[in-house]
Amino acid sequence: MKIPLLDIVKMHAPIRGELLAAMTEVLDSGSYINGRYVERFETQLAEHAGTRRAVGVTSGSDALIVAMMALGVKPGDEVVTSAFTFFATAGAIVRLGAKPVFVDIDPVTFNIDPARIEDSITDRTVGIMPVHLFGQSADMDKINAAARKHGVWVLEDAAQSIGALYKGRMCGAMGTAGTYSFFPAKNLGGIGDGGAVVTNDDELADKMLVIREHGSKPKYHHKVVGGNFRLDALQAAVLSVKLPHLREWEEKRRKAAATYAELLAGNDLYVPPVEVRDCRHVFNQYELRVGQGKRDTAASKLRDADMGHAIYYPIPLHLQECFAGLGYKRGDLPVTEKMCDEVLAVPILVDADACKEVVSVLQTV
Ligand SMILES: *Cc1c(COP(=O)(O)O)cnc(C)c1O
Repeated sequence: MKIPLLDIVKMHAPIRGELLAAMTEVLDSGSYINGRYVERFETQLAEHAGTRRAVGVTSGSDALIVAMMALGVKPGDEVVTSAFTFFATAGAIVRLGAKPVFVDIDPVTFNIDPARIEDSITDRTVGIMPVHLFGQSADMDKINAAARKHGVWVLEDAAQSIGALYKGRMCGAMGTAGTYSFFPAKNLGGIGDGGAVVTNDDELADKMLVIREHGSKPKYHHKVVGGNFRLDALQAAVLSVKLPHLREWEEKRRKAAATYAELLAGNDLYVPPVEVRDCRHVFNQYELRVGQGKRDTAASKLRDADMGHAIYYPIPLHLQECFAGLGYKRGDLPVTEKMCDEVLAVPILVDADACKEVVSVLQTV
């Protein structure tokens, strides 16, 4: 492909030697499950997030599940969240027997609209799960204020926003707990699956350590039912090598974002993403809005030019077939539904020349 949406192999090339050395070290250590590589990465990650604790787990999806298990989520509970996100956000809630209550989003940030949260809180609400979508923080002061007022927890789904800042604080570190995904295409990706939960609550972190080991503590004594939710030592070692480089990749993404915004300035067909005040956007995805019903035309032009692109997300979660039982219908979340028809992601971890080529194709629409 001429310009892929994300070229992970190319991204790894400058650190290939470091990665191979780290993987070889794990291979030769025999320490494959838990142990020093996982602990080292958890320490590094907590330091990066500015939290007391980090707990490595199997994936970003399981991070949500483990965190909610530790928070005591049970069948019938309600969790307020967004429908404009990856499936796992709501999937995790439903897998615990709880009910996602979807709130519409802000069209500028694509994140949950804090002004609409309080209307969705009922006697059964136990928490709010904001998603920091595409690399930019949700409005955490307002979300935390609503949670405090109603005595519920906040679990930040920061799968796409490790390193993003809100008023100087890290996404994931502002709520009761926050989750990250190390899926390869996330800003900090492993070479396979992985995830983590960060928190300042020691008691919650200790519960998660037990839950990720089948609830076993001491060994073979089970006070709670957990599961196998462990982060692989091999992934932890790879992530320890990559974390110190995260900032450079973020800067490259931010530079490309600035280039796109400059090239598209004055074009009334495309609305580039906006970095809002007090936020540092890390552009896990660079999501344009395409007006005049031309999104699919723009996507096919990029396809013909052999350039990467994607639609995150074509179907909002409240209209997914598996959630039909929740009783939502088209029209319930108008902003979310409109975004699903307009958004188009273009390559972002690229240099200025690639941005120019992408924009030159977009300008032919
Ligand atoms: C990627 C992602 C997840 C799930 O992470 P996995 O590691 O793929 O399980 C959850 N929420 C959001 C918003 C994501 O983008």
